[in-house]
Amino acid sequence: MKTNLLEFDLDALAAFCAQLGEQRFRATQLFRWIHQRGASDFGAMSDLAKALRSKLEGCARVEALPLISEQAASDGTLKWLFDVRDGNAVEAVFIPEDDRGTLCVSSQAGCAVGCRFCSTGHQGFSRNLTAGEIVAQLWFAEHSLRKRFGTAERVITNLVMMGMGEPLQNYSALIPALRVMLDDHGYGLSRRRVTVSTSGVVPMLDRLAQDCPVALAVSLHAPNDPLRDKLVPLNRKYPIHELLQACKRYLVHAPRDFITFEYCMLDGVNDQLAQARELIDLVRGAEIRCKFNLIPFNPFPASGLLRSTQNQLLAFAKVLSDAGIVTTVRRTRGDDIDAACGQLAGDVRDRTRAALRIARQRTIELKPVA
Ligand code: SF4
Repeated sequence: MKTNLLEFDLDALAAFCAQLGEQRFRATQLFRWIHQRGASDFGAMSDLAKALRSKLEGCARVEALPLISEQAASDGTLKWLFDVRDGNAVEAVFIPEDDRGTLCVSSQAGCAVGCRFCSTGHQGFSRNLTAGEIVAQLWFAEHSLRKRFGTAERVITNLVMMGMGEPLQNYSALIPALRVMLDDHGYGLSRRRVTVSTSGVVPMLDRLAQDCPVALAVSLHAPNDPLRDKLVPLNRKYPIHELLQACKRYLVHAPRDFITFEYCMLDGVNDQLAQARELIDLVRGAEIRCKFNLIPFNPFPASGLLRSTQNQLLAFAKVLSDAGIVTTVRRTRGDDIDAACGQLAGDVRDRTRAALRIARQRTIELKPVA
């Protein structure tokens, strides 16, 4: 079986080339061909020696994920569904804006965390993606978009690990994939324009801070443990206090950054003004530089939850911003193709019986606060 070079960051590619008797600068050239120019045909890599090209043809390949479908929304959002074998499929979404192009990438086929409001979580978990399968989403998106827009310039300027999966539960693939994204010989994305979104895997947050302190988004969704336990089951293992302490430690390694707290607005569940005030006390008490991103919930039948009204969402946002906390409301994008946050469902051969587990959780009543 030929090795797929999309699996390698530059160091790993250099090690692979060293086994072929090649020096590191050859690996750098090859890396640039693959990631900066989107090449997959070794024969076309004209500044590589012929002998190396034929060695590579014998033992290596550059192979994208098979594309199952592409959907375009009326607002320009694009969603791709990729086959990751064994009956699993994952999604990536491109969101164009005036000043940036953001790609949302998946890290797992499914997700084992099982958040109540997330349609990926309701599908259960099949397996971790490899580093190459994560990078392949970017490789395909960047180079197909350049062709689509007829440009040689970079199209994707921002990347968020907010697709299917909990990236910090796939750490060994996440780190090399991030390195490819950040590498100047790869995609050259700035550390602050690559965001890892986590539901709060505390020990891995500390490792990420050491290994690759990119921008961090934390799925908070509740101001206290009893409610968060119900919405984000991982909270029972890593409660809010521990999570916030980990966020604080993270910022030591990313001193000019802030944490983005993601907060999915659920009607009558976590959207009351008293809960906004509770959030203020929480982040002030922990002394964390942060901003809040309020996400209008995208309802799906199995969740049993509803989107907060626009008035409630704006009133909630106002309480936070009046307290001096930068608060944004996420625009829903790609609604007509189910590409909005929490709607990526792909196709997952569940190995965790998540659907059953979540169905049981659904019998827990989520009461509005007084
Ligand atoms: S919100 Fe994220 S961590 Fe929670 S189930 Fe969905 S993909 Fe997993």
